[in-house]
Amino acid sequence: MNNKLVEQANEWMQPTRFKDYGPNGLQVEGKSEVTKLVTGVTASLELIEAAANAGADAILVHHGLFWRGQEGTLTGWMRGRVAKLIHNNINLIAYHLPLDAHPLYGNNAQLAIHLGLQMRETFGDQNLGHIGFVTPGTQGAESFCINDLALRVERVLGRTPTVIAGDKSRRIGKIAWCTGGAQSWFEDAIYAGAEAFITGEISEPQAHLAKETGVAFLACGHHATERYGVQALGQALAEKFSIEHQFIDVDNPA
Ligand SMILES: [Zn+2]
Repeated sequence: MNNKLVEQANEWMQPTRFKDYGPNGLQVEGKSEVTKLVTGVTASLELIEAAANAGADAILVHHGLFWRGQEGTLTGWMRGRVAKLIHNNINLIAYHLPLDAHPLYGNNAQLAIHLGLQMRETFGDQNLGHIGFVTPGTQGAESFCINDLALRVERVLGRTPTVIAGDKSRRIGKIAWCTGGAQSWFEDAIYAGAEAFITGEISEPQAHLAKETGVAFLACGHHATERYGVQALGQALAEKFSIEHQFIDVDNPA
């Protein structure tokens, strides 16, 4: 493909700074000219089909096709996805951790903007955990409690979070967040002094930890928390190269 688009994306995302679970950047090469870019969370067959129907020349996703530990064969569902891309000559571009971490286009930065959180510091592996406060001046910021946070998540992300907390009317100041499947970061968030932790998924141990430490745990959906980074990056690329951009949300309850 005309590598300018990927070169620009790489320049912004700086994938070499990360130890990731899969390749970042161009994963499947398609046509050289890109006039329509479709973004989505995951390179699923449903997204690829929808993008092909929408006339996409390139698809930009957060969860690409290739991950450490895979068979490495183009069989079954993997063949189905790759065949659909190649048949339609569509480029597939993916950024995983770089797109979680980017200070402006990143999933964490964008989730904070959407939820009205002000970032102050980072914690944990590769600085992917974020800590901040409810932006002063936003609705009810002075007496912001766990219930308010849960309601805000529900309103903004369009899904009811799983909330593990004792007294949900308790006022909270320091809030930590990490999008996607970052439930195992809960302990780091607790040590960092957070009073509530927002991520996508929950596993069994976190429910106990939340009760025993008094730090609230909000599981807000892996997909739902990671919808925004790829849209921001896609929009920035579309503006830079004067191309069309469309985000396609293939909903996922997980
Ligand atoms: Zn993810």
